Amino acid sequence: MSNELLHAKLKEHFGFEKFRPNQESIIQTVLSGKDTLAIMPTGGGKSICFQLPALLFNGITIVVSPLIALMKDQVDSLKANGIAACFINSTQSSEEQQHYIEALRNNSIKLVYVAPESLSYLDQAFDSLEISMIAIDEAHCISAWGHDFRPAYTNLGYLKKRFPTTPILALTATADKATRTDIATQLNLAEPKIVVASFDRKNLSLEVRPAVDRVKQIIEFIERKPNESGIIYCLSRKTTEELAQKLQQKGINAKAYHAGLEAKLRAKTQDDFINDDCPIVCATIAFGMGIDKSNVRWVIHYNLPKNIEGYYQEIGRAGRDGLPSETILFESYADVIQLQKFASEGLNADLQLAKLERMRHYADALSCRRKILLSYFGELVTENCGNCDICQNPPVFFDGTILAQKALSAITRLQEKEPMTLIVDFLRGSKNASIYEKEYHQLKSYGIGAETSWYDWNQYLIQLINLGYCEIAFHQKNRILLTPLARKVLFEGEKVLLTAVVQKSVAKLVLKESKASAAKNGLFETLRQLRYTIAKEEGVPAYVIFNDATLRQLETVRPMSEAEFLTIDGVGKAKLEKYGAEFIDAIAEFQKNKKIRVKKEGATYKETLALFTKGVSVEEIAQQRKLGVSTILSHIAKLYTDDHITDLSTFVTLEEIEQLKEAHKTIGSASVLKPYFDYFEEQIAYSTIRMGLAVIEKEEVRRL
Ligand code: ADP
Ligand code: ZN
Repeated sequence: MSNELLHAKLKEHFGFEKFRPNQESIIQTVLSGKDTLAIMPTGGGKSICFQLPALLFNGITIVVSPLIALMKDQVDSLKANGIAACFINSTQSSEEQQHYIEALRNNSIKLVYVAPESLSYLDQAFDSLEISMIAIDEAHCISAWGHDFRPAYTNLGYLKKRFPTTPILALTATADKATRTDIATQLNLAEPKIVVASFDRKNLSLEVRPAVDRVKQIIEFIERKPNESGIIYCLSRKTTEELAQKLQQKGINAKAYHAGLEAKLRAKTQDDFINDDCPIVCATIAFGMGIDKSNVRWVIHYNLPKNIEGYYQEIGRAGRDGLPSETILFESYADVIQLQKFASEGLNADLQLAKLERMRHYADALSCRRKILLSYFGELVTENCGNCDICQNPPVFFDGTILAQKALSAITRLQEKEPMTLIVDFLRGSKNASIYEKEYHQLKSYGIGAETSWYDWNQYLIQLINLGYCEIAFHQKNRILLTPLARKVLFEGEKVLLTAVVQKSVAKLVLKESKASAAKNGLFETLRQLRYTIAKEEGVPAYVIFNDATLRQLETVRPMSEAEFLTIDGVGKAKLEKYGAEFIDAIAEFQKNKKIRVKKEGATYKETLALFTKGVSVEEIAQQRKLGVSTILSHIAKLYTDDHITDLSTFVTLEEIEQLKEAHKTIGSASVLKPYFDYFEEQIAYSTIRMGLAVIEKEEVRRL
């Protein structure tokens, strides 16, 4: 089929403007009648590869898929695009099955999903059906080499014998070569064309953080992105429950999920997640298989994963819609020890330990993380990715000999009895109860590291552990012991290179933060609400209506006519007819309200200005106008940037402005105050920061 026609069909039926890499070549091969083995990462867009040809063939397409939940989801998505599809499984009555088989016979349904266990229901009808194509999703389930072996898949080899001229398309996200060959052999594929897509998922950012104050870090992360869906993977069932509880206590809508929970509760949690009713799930790795949710915006690993395969599959659940999505891995030394213990006690101990070691290398990487991941999957990349924490903050080495000496001698003074936190308190000369009770403040070395922050000391100590100068005695209350190597530093003048601790790119955080606050009141949120309402009415997951990528485009393009609406990626013929009017109305309404808002805002600034120029104090203005002090302050800052007020010296001194400028250099943005507040360790008031930033911002604008 010509490429133009294929593109036109893609747009008409699925609303997509262009193919993702490899989709087109896979589809063309299948259409030419050849067997095909397609290897694509999770989120690569496998479904289109059989759904589009299914519409173009004369006969029907059978899709073998392992999970009932997934089938339902795919059938819903197809229906939303106006494409008739069904699934057949054991939960249906035989009348229902007959009804669908009849529809397949008369070609009013062209796509049927079936689990391998249920193929027998179709079997009886095979002779009377014209079968144009057979797709086998999650094809690695056929291979005992793969990580998801399913006995029922092994019978699928008979399909090729039964339908020797029907093309078979096998799809999987499992990359290793042994599994690939095994799939082709077991399915009896006839000289299949093998298409291997890149495993690079450029839209996923990669970040590894030390597991200091994990819960706090997670809460801060989540608070910066209201309404976004995410998964937090934990090693143990207990952690999932504890973490979910801690998040709930902070008013965050999160639930726990693990295989030990009652089946009903599990199903409910999964549904709530899929339907955007509960955006966050704290789960063991039992969660995620069979979830097609395209708008998972982030994945956090609370603990170190066992191996890179698992890790990559889990982070792959973020950002299937192709929009930027974040992944964070928390690394702790305790996890490594525990996982080593598990691995050494389990099957294939050596292999598992070696895999864990690779995982650890990834976490401790000092060069582009994506390169490391892709090379693990056999892909060679020469360019650094620019979208991992290492690319963004390359490690800087420095001579850390003195720091190391201080830390190691502190451990000596404390007779190797204390855990990391207390060692840091001791180094910093903290005046807390445990120090005083044990009279540690009397010892030599107490406070010798006062000039280094608590956080940095923790990081340096972890580095010293990784470098082998000291170790954690996990079975003895985590006290820190010296190793023989420590002697070299303490007494033989060995030099120690440490990497500088980077404050997690504050500038980046700020940018995201301002984006998040814009998101709260913006058009995206309006559209998201509308999508949610429609999804509830139709009883389907919200992303089935439109995915996040489509909503983002609607937000930027703001189409006001049907013709414009159809140009949006993800809007095909059926969705235009079904949802076009409602979304266009919502956009028009939003635009109208925006105009009104701008007018109103103008009026409120004028009122503040009038009082301010009369010399009324900020507190009084707030009182008179029944508004918050911070609102009035923000008015004044705005009035200053807009040249209605010329002098802010009553709010901020020249010296403070200089200090703020210094901070501005590191923080990078002047639109959010919290990072400045933190920068000055809460010593400069918010009102001062706000006014100071207004001054800086205005100077910047003048310079441009
Ligand atoms: P996989 O099965 O490989 O994990 P899916 O088939 O579920 O991936 O597709 C992932 C997401 O990408 C879905 O939300 C789908 O709608 C979207 N998608 C697929 N193909 C395209 C395309 N050509 N353009 C834009 N989005 C696409
Ligand atoms: Zn990188």
